[in-house]
Amino acid sequence: MRIILVGPPGAGKGTQAARLVDSYNIPHISTGDMLRAAVAAKTELGKQADECMSRGDLVPDGLVIAMTVERLGQPDCARGFMLDGFPRTRAQAFALTDALEKAAIVLDAVVLIEVPDDQIVGRIVGRRSDPETGKIYHLSFQPPPPEIVDRLVQRKDDTEDACRARLAKYHAETAPIVDYYAEQGRLKRVDGVGSADEVELRIKAALA
Ligand code: AMP
Repeated sequence: MRIILVGPPGAGKGTQAARLVDSYNIPHISTGDMLRAAVAAKTELGKQADECMSRGDLVPDGLVIAMTVERLGQPDCARGFMLDGFPRTRAQAFALTDALEKAAIVLDAVVLIEVPDDQIVGRIVGRRSDPETGKIYHLSFQPPPPEIVDRLVQRKDDTEDACRARLAKYHAETAPIVDYYAEQGRLKRVDGVGSADEVELRIKAALA
C-alpha cells in the first residue's frame, strides 16, 4: 500500500496513520515528526526548520523534498508507505510525482481527512502527546489516563496563534494539491468528525 494522508492541522492524520500502518504493515513517514527529530537533534536541517515551525509556517520546499525523497528511497519503503504531512505544496506534489515515476512506483490512494475549520483550534490546543509511547491524546475528547498526565507534552506549535497560521497555510498552499490528486482519480474524501475508531473504519472502507 502506498498512501498519502492529507488534511488540515488537527484532522487526526497522526492518530490515523499510527493505526493504519499497523494494519497494513508499512512505515509511517511523518515529515512533521522527522523535522521535530531534526530540531531536537540540532542538525543543520533542524536549525533551519525550527523558526518556521514555531511560527506555524511551512519549512522551505527544497529542504523538505530532499529529506522526504531520501527517506522514501530507504529499503523499508519498498513494500509501501504511509506519507503523513507531505506533500503540502504544489512544488512538493510535483517533486513527489517525479520521484515516484523515476522509481516506477504508483500511489494507491490519497486520503483527505475533512474537518471543518471551526473545530480545528479546539482540537489543536487540547492536544498532548506522551513522550514515552508517542501516543496522542486530547485533554477533553480523548483524555489520557490520570497516571500519565504529568509526563504529557504539548507541541510548541500547538498554540492558538500558530494553529491559526497553520490553518491559513493549509488553505493557501495545501488545499490546491487536493484538486491535483482528484484530477488524477486518486483522491478519497473521508469525514474526519467522530471518534478515532469511526474515522479509522471510514478510511479502511475508502481504501478497500
Ligand atoms: P505536522 O506535524 O505535520 O503538523 O507538521 C508540523 C510542522 O512541520 C508544520 O507546521 C511545518 O512547519 C513543518 N512541516 C511538516 N511537514 C512539512 C512539509 N511537507 N512542508 C513544509 N513544512 C512541513
